[in-house]
Amino acid sequence: MNKQSELEKYTEYGLSGTPEIKADEKKYWLGEFRERVIFALTFEQINRKEAVKVIEEKCKDERIDKLIVESSVLDTITEKFMDLAHKYDKDYKTIDMNGTNKEIALVLASNEAIDERQVLIKELPKLPDEFYYAHSKKLCKKHMEELQKKSPMFMDEFEEMTLLDKMMGIKCGVCEVVKK
Ligand SMILES: [Zn+2]
Repeated sequence: MNKQSELEKYTEYGLSGTPEIKADEKKYWLGEFRERVIFALTFEQINRKEAVKVIEEKCKDERIDKLIVESSVLDTITEKFMDLAHKYDKDYKTIDMNGTNKEIALVLASNEAIDERQVLIKELPKLPDEFYYAHSKKLCKKHMEELQKKSPMFMDEFEEMTLLDKMMGIKCGVCEVVKK
């Protein structure tokens, strides 16, 4: 079975699965029943810096009781999710799927059946490259406005340069990238 059809099987038919499917289903969703899953990230997505932002937004959902991370995810990355779980008062755990699950890296779940339809997204909201690779978090007015237009979700990651910054010779993090 290829990756795509497996994904479809669990997202589309998981809600009304038979008991045999339920065991597989729990393996797929890091030990949770599909009906309790509210959101999930793939291994590919979890390594992007945007993932933390997306999960933070999701953590504001009060139906979410726990955040589960597959244990093969790097510590430097899991640390950020551990902090989020703590901040939003969610239970945090890691689970070792022994390599049986190469798809799902993180699950946000409820303790009850929720039957959320869409728990996976194809692509994370993306920070444009020049902002992703910004040399610093300080931006000029023009680039703050551009960010507001393109990805308002990431506004609080940056700040507009002050007059003092300018006097001290601090340069806009994005202008520095674009110059190269
Ligand atoms: Zn700039």
